[in-house]
Amino acid sequence: MVNQTFIQYFHWYYNEEQKLWQKAIQESGKLQEMGITGAWLPPAYKSTEGADSTGYDCYDLYDLGEFDQKNSIPTRHGSKDEYLQAINALQEKGIMVMADIVFNHKAGADELEKVAVRRVDPENRAEFISDVFEIEAWTKFTFPGRGGKYSDFVWDKNCFSGTDWAEDLKETAIFSIQNEYGEGWEEVPSSELGNYDYLMFSDIEFRNKAVREELKRWGEWYYETCGMDGFRLDAVKHIAPDYLNEWLDHMRNKFNKDFFVVGENWVLDDVANLRSYIDLTEGRMQLFDSMLHHNFYQAGLQGDQYDMSKIFVDTLVESHPHLSVTFVDNHDSQPLQSLEAYVDFWFRPLAYAMILLREQGIPCIFYPDLYGAKYVDKDHEGQDRDVELVFVEGLPQMTQIRRDFAHGFQRDYIDHQNCIGWTREGDEEHGDSGVAVVLSNGEEGHKNMEIGKGHAGQIFIDAIGGREDEVMVNEEGWAEFFCNAGSVSVWIRKK
Ligand code: CA
Repeated sequence: MVNQTFIQYFHWYYNEEQKLWQKAIQESGKLQEMGITGAWLPPAYKSTEGADSTGYDCYDLYDLGEFDQKNSIPTRHGSKDEYLQAINALQEKGIMVMADIVFNHKAGADELEKVAVRRVDPENRAEFISDVFEIEAWTKFTFPGRGGKYSDFVWDKNCFSGTDWAEDLKETAIFSIQNEYGEGWEEVPSSELGNYDYLMFSDIEFRNKAVREELKRWGEWYYETCGMDGFRLDAVKHIAPDYLNEWLDHMRNKFNKDFFVVGENWVLDDVANLRSYIDLTEGRMQLFDSMLHHNFYQAGLQGDQYDMSKIFVDTLVESHPHLSVTFVDNHDSQPLQSLEAYVDFWFRPLAYAMILLREQGIPCIFYPDLYGAKYVDKDHEGQDRDVELVFVEGLPQMTQIRRDFAHGFQRDYIDHQNCIGWTREGDEEHGDSGVAVVLSNGEEGHKNMEIGKGHAGQIFIDAIGGREDEVMVNEEGWAEFFCNAGSVSVWIRKK
């Protein structure tokens, strides 16, 4: 069996001289050598800021860098041709490509319309705080720069359930749009803020059948154009889950293809919210394990006060290992972003060992942890702040060890406040496989662990953590493995 290892192939501030699609083409071979089997690429659609947009403020889903819209033909990441080349280059190296799908909202409309709305309480969106009145809102999308190519669908006020800007009043608020599909918001899984259907920009109205059908047609076009292997679904907790189920069933049936799908459902307070979403979607998609990320973040902050024996407690990977995409950070949690909670640098190698070298979960590594990143943005006080994210030393070795050695039966020793470990026994398919991992958030650590009698008499060395020891496995298949203080050691057979 192949161990899947994904990479989120971007971050919010990607600013290298080479545009991202070109970089992916150039790096595809290196990613393959590292054992990467899947790449999540950012939204490829023309968005409101044209060549500057991250893609999450999407304007035209049919413009992958092909039309002169929003003052640019290419997107921030390059042209449509380059996007298609990047997908091909990755796939030729055996790397699956996941496209990022933004279904919650649209931005940068072409025309104003008169729209009947009610204001809602921003802290409790279930509560109206005004009667119905009319505003001028940017809710009509005609895409004049595309001129009807691929689709002549026009989005208007009946395609949205809410918006946040009244042009005539010059007012920012959360306006619930009154249309024929019912008063107020759609039912969504999240009850945060009363109802969390509305997130930003103009919120797509999935009660409108024409919208549902258009997005299915678009999905067909997108796959037929690009041939991706799967999807990362943005902001699913703000979208009616019955539509995502319908869309995924449609795509899988239409193309008879088992697309890999992972949803972004950002939950930090209670893993029950992730588990109930799996029930709502009946296992049609994996979810990012935001709870595990949150534990990593806390562990990084708390140092040796964090109880490592609890690191997997109340996470998704604990209860649903096959549906859990594990990660350390992403483009929202990186410094200066909306959900900033960057796992401290000292803890990142430990966190990566916990997602890459265990049996449970499908790990997704974050671009800056491989390449580093430097950028400037405003902080909460509006001051410019320089950020440097240094890459994680040993990460490419760890992904290779995942591919080559992290196989077979797992034995857990997650039983101590500061020092935990586990072993993988290895299997026949992968010669010399088997690995022992020890990590400590406190002092130098050691762990007596069983790795299996098949390794009796074999010498193990540390491939990652800088231990010079040689460890011999005894006749019963046990050995004492070590790690340095605040560090992780990854023991593999000496050649
Ligand atoms: Ca929504």
